[in-house]
Amino acid sequence: MAINLEAYQQVLSRLKPFNAELVAVSKTKPVADIEALYAAGQRIFGENYVQELTEKQAVLPADIAWHFIGHLQSNKVKFIAPFVHTIHAVDSIKLLQEISKQAAKHERIIHCLLQVHIAAEETKFGMDEQELQQLLQTYTSNPFAFASVRIAGMMGMATNTSDETQIHKEFHQLHQLFGSVKTTYFNNEAYFKELSIGMSADYSIALQEGSTMVRIGSLLFGERNYSQM
Ligand SMILES: *Cc1c(COP(=O)(O)O)cnc(C)c1O
Repeated sequence: MAINLEAYQQVLSRLKPFNAELVAVSKTKPVADIEALYAAGQRIFGENYVQELTEKQAVLPADIAWHFIGHLQSNKVKFIAPFVHTIHAVDSIKLLQEISKQAAKHERIIHCLLQVHIAAEETKFGMDEQELQQLLQTYTSNPFAFASVRIAGMMGMATNTSDETQIHKEFHQLHQLFGSVKTTYFNNEAYFKELSIGMSADYSIALQEGSTMVRIGSLLFGERNYSQM
């Protein structure tokens, strides 16, 4: 078995005092590995690719809460709308509108997190602060256009660096922004509560900076080998 159950228990015990949730990121990993972690009690899994997610969802237990954490194209929302629980990387009003439309077809509510770009790297997806404000203004002024999505919080990825001070700073800024968005646009509503920050390498820092949801892959499932996909 390739999965690391010891690391799994360790992660869970680190999350506990913070009351944070674990999204086990299973992209590129076989169904058998997901089944093994499921048997250990894990119910929230994260995937990045639409086709891979739909194939896995079809053969795995129905009580798994699937989180889509990758970059999502609007024209692919329909494939995951029947079952996806949370979409982490919402970065445009067009995508949010499409998610709501597809969710409505299945009489579902899909939870969405707004992805904000906090890293120094150009390559990471997400909105800057101005784009975020624009999206939120459109969202709050047209509530009926978005009746089948629930914006449950925000998500971000820190720079891939060994400089912990920088990672702290980036997560801290996102946490501040999260707080101001919650008051300004969500009236401090309880459902706007998730801050999805932290991966295998930086989740301890993320927890100190207010993470409510960490997305951890390689620590649980081992390194990924994309060439075998
Ligand atoms: C792959 C991925 C993760 C998990 O990364 P690890 O370093 O393996 O823990 C988390 N978040 C996103 C958005 C990812 O694409």
